[in-house]
Amino acid sequence: MTAEVLVAGSINADLVVPVDRRPGAGETVLGGDTELLPGGKGANTAVAASLLGAQVAMVGAIGDDANGRLLLGALREAGVRVDLVRTADRPTGAAYIVVTPDGENSILVSPGANSALEPSALDGAFDDARVLAVSMEIPLPTVEHAVIAASEAGVRVLLNLSPVAKVSERALAAVDVLLVNEHEAAWLLGDADADPRVLLELGPFSAVLTRGARGALVITEDGTTEVPSPEVEAVDTTGAGDAFTGALAASLAEGATLVDAARLAVKVAAISVTRSGAQPSYPRAGEID
Ligand code: ADP
Repeated sequence: MTAEVLVAGSINADLVVPVDRRPGAGETVLGGDTELLPGGKGANTAVAASLLGAQVAMVGAIGDDANGRLLLGALREAGVRVDLVRTADRPTGAAYIVVTPDGENSILVSPGANSALEPSALDGAFDDARVLAVSMEIPLPTVEHAVIAASEAGVRVLLNLSPVAKVSERALAAVDVLLVNEHEAAWLLGDADADPRVLLELGPFSAVLTRGARGALVITEDGTTEVPSPEVEAVDTTGAGDAFTGALAASLAEGATLVDAARLAVKVAAISVTRSGAQPSYPRAGEID
């Protein structure tokens, strides 16, 4: 089976506990029931793209444990190919999330097996891929290798620079689409008021800046295009950026222009924020008008 979209990134178990208030140092607080949800930026992106009908293969790492098996099952159920997911000698990555009644999260991520994803995981992965979508919860050398190797293999590279980190100039120059949110753009440009067009000076061929409820800005050397978001009632924005990334990758793999791909991505991400959770909130192709 061929994969048009290759996703390299993290696979995490999200353990979500509602609490009245977050514990302070040395304190024990009783919370509500634990919800165990499939997550990780990479896995979320792969699921979002697959539900839209793309042939997707995941490159990532899990541990030989119950969480790993659960997460692999969630990927398979969404139609994602998992033969490139490695089993590492580390526990499956986990995010411990406490949610207070005001909706605020505090999150502790234990990367576990994601930290063991080596550059060699990409060997032979590019066969029929059209687009590689990479995000940052895996080791930086693996991200940089993936970007450069994909570009050399003629695969379009979409880098979701989240969580933001310093990537080599060589890797950034191999990026076709650099995808950042406003916080990440401010970090990269050193100024929240900087002109987003300056993102192209970092090396990528084009950039997409996501702007929450306002939608996205597509930046190419020909100029910038605003892609407004449909107005929706947001219930839970967890994983909205990953939904956007997956939709953008799926659409680019179908041959859409970057602006048209962003038009689909804002619709997909808008639907995702109207429902709870990350992966469980992602729409199938038939749900988008
Ligand atoms: P991240 O989730 O990475 O922090 P954003 O907040 O920019 O990034 O959200 C990513 C995308 O999700 C946005 O470009 C937009 O399309 C969609 N989105 C996020 N919040 C909302 C919202 N309140 N209403 C509609 N769409 C939203």
